[in-house]
Amino acid sequence: MSKESMLRENLKNVEENIARACDKAGRRRKDVTLVAVSKTKPVEVLKEAYDLGVRVFGENKVQELLDKYEALPKDIEWHMIGHLQTNKVKYIIGKVAMIHSVDSLKLAQTIEKESAKNNCVTKILVEVNVAEEESKFGIHVDEVEEFMEKLAEFDHIQVCGLMTIAPFVDNSEENREIFKNLHKLSVDIMGKNIDNRNVDVLSMGMTNDYEVAIEEGATMIRVGTGIFGVRNYF
Ligand SMILES: *Cc1c(COP(=O)(O)O)cnc(C)c1O
Repeated sequence: MSKESMLRENLKNVEENIARACDKAGRRRKDVTLVAVSKTKPVEVLKEAYDLGVRVFGENKVQELLDKYEALPKDIEWHMIGHLQTNKVKYIIGKVAMIHSVDSLKLAQTIEKESAKNNCVTKILVEVNVAEEESKFGIHVDEVEEFMEKLAEFDHIQVCGLMTIAPFVDNSEENREIFKNLHKLSVDIMGKNIDNRNVDVLSMGMTNDYEVAIEEGATMIRVGTGIFGVRNYF
């Protein structure tokens, strides 16, 4: 099979799986955004995906995101999904549709400052360490509410919701509880009405577990391998 038709086939499969999970959960397809995670993939491959209708891409490295941003059409929504260093924030403000990985006050302050300079409002998600893995980034579940209260003072940040990275597991059912917990956390926070901060967006679920994540309320899923095939790291 040619690369192009493989991509077409993969996208079709992912779409079918999303539709099935939405059906099962009684949810509408349009309430789930597919973020095509294109990290490590060359611009040509992204262009093929673009030609097949993909408009939302996720990247985890600033330089790579910028290179692709420059090379590809301007109607693409770029999502920064990887850990972000404060000294690199200035390069992506005004270019990214959303930053999924806000996990410290220092990072939020920098996004605020750079967005103010750029005269724009940056949409962000708070990354939550639901799985409580030592190695993972993210705010501890118990500290999310307090963190969001602090973010409420920033005029150039729009908090849109929560994001989590679940562990890599063979059986996606093992992550159901994590997705349930992130959903529950968003409902709890919504009930607190923190200064018109929204928590509508739940970014959760990757290639191995996005169907379970959709069943548990994901509004954004981040799918890489399932669309583009395995990644080669050099
Ligand atoms: C790489 C990555 C993904 C996509 O992973 P796949 O398993 O290839 O779908 C999703 N989210 C984040 C934060 C990632 O870094």
